[in-house]
Amino acid sequence: MQKFRNFQMVSKVVFGRGSFDQTGEILDLQRAVQPGAMIFLVDAVFEGAALAKRIPSQKNDAVIFINVNDHEPKTTQVDALRDSLQKDLGSAISGVVGIGGGSILDISKAVSVMLTNPGSSAEYQGWDIPKKPSVYHAGIPTLSGTGAEVSRTTVLTGPVRKLGINSDYSVFHQIILDPDLIAEAPAEQRFYTGMDCYIHCVESLEGTFLNSFSRAYGQKALELCEEVFLGAVDRKRADEDLMMASYCGGMSIAYSQVGVCHALSYGLAYVLGVRHGIGNSIVFDYLEEFYPKGVAVFRQMCEKNGIELPRNITARLTEAQMEKMLDVALSLEPLWENALGKGWKEIMTRQKARSLYERM
Ligand code: NAD
Ligand code: ZN
Repeated sequence: MQKFRNFQMVSKVVFGRGSFDQTGEILDLQRAVQPGAMIFLVDAVFEGAALAKRIPSQKNDAVIFINVNDHEPKTTQVDALRDSLQKDLGSAISGVVGIGGGSILDISKAVSVMLTNPGSSAEYQGWDIPKKPSVYHAGIPTLSGTGAEVSRTTVLTGPVRKLGINSDYSVFHQIILDPDLIAEAPAEQRFYTGMDCYIHCVESLEGTFLNSFSRAYGQKALELCEEVFLGAVDRKRADEDLMMASYCGGMSIAYSQVGVCHALSYGLAYVLGVRHGIGNSIVFDYLEEFYPKGVAVFRQMCEKNGIELPRNITARLTEAQMEKMLDVALSLEPLWENALGKGWKEIMTRQKARSLYERM
């Protein structure tokens, strides 16, 4: 009998301009069920900003600002955060609320899983490893595109690999989608994170794992991305649509997988620290033979939005770095299988992957 994935979805969703101001009353419901401190993990870009003043924290809660610029979320970072929260608060935690882009959303997801599961988060990089339900966690995106608000993964860089904690327990219990929060994001960052969504859709729609569930969400998200980055909608409408594109793109992946671009981009991120959105954009530009139509439209989007992609980023790699990059990329079997089918190893040989990296 064929077994279909029975996956956890986000339990509750609010969408609307200004919905951030409902956060307090939403969290009150959780505070009543599980008394204790609410932990707000907030992108440090908002420290001292108007948004930070609107966070509905109460006495005994913790508001922790996290700088996400130095590196993408790491297992060591998640472990340290979990350890310090447990030391200070013990089990008196009502929930975790992440306010930020994909990095903060992932840190929040990972910390809430690790508050109830023993050991290091590095031991949970993989599929369905955590045994215990996480603490309640809510996500409030301030950038749109990663789909981290709806996905069942939390991408972490660990001692050996960049790989998510893919688990039903990673999924947010609540998300608050307020398009006002993405309005001030820097244009380049907005574009690169938006391209993450666009690339998710292309990889999902062109993949072998595709079914009607993924196709329905993927097509909608792709259409919204094209409207946002190529169309003539006004900025407010564009922010709303981009937020829904990210949501639908994430839902599309729930039943499928990403593909060639993400696998190669994970290698770049691991060895060179290239960030996700920009890394995907750099890689995608060289994937014409795998995604001809997607790459052609992507180039139009770059042009229309005045984006100049970085070049020659692998030119000065040592042989050891190149080998590590290939190890990381080629270890991501589900991505390759989705992209190229069961016989992927004959198509994406080590030499082929190397030649793609060498062009970047
Ligand atoms: P990010 O969270 O890394 O943030 C990028 C930059 O934008 C940071 O400098 C941040 O401070 C800034 N920023 C965020 N919101 C802002 C705002 N409103 N105004 C001004 N500056 C703002 O960027 P991202 O692209 O959203 O997330 C990338 C991360 O998401 C990577 O770590 C990647 O691995 C992860 N990811 C996760 C999933 C998933 O399903 N869990 C999927 C794709 C990517
Ligand atoms: Zn992605």
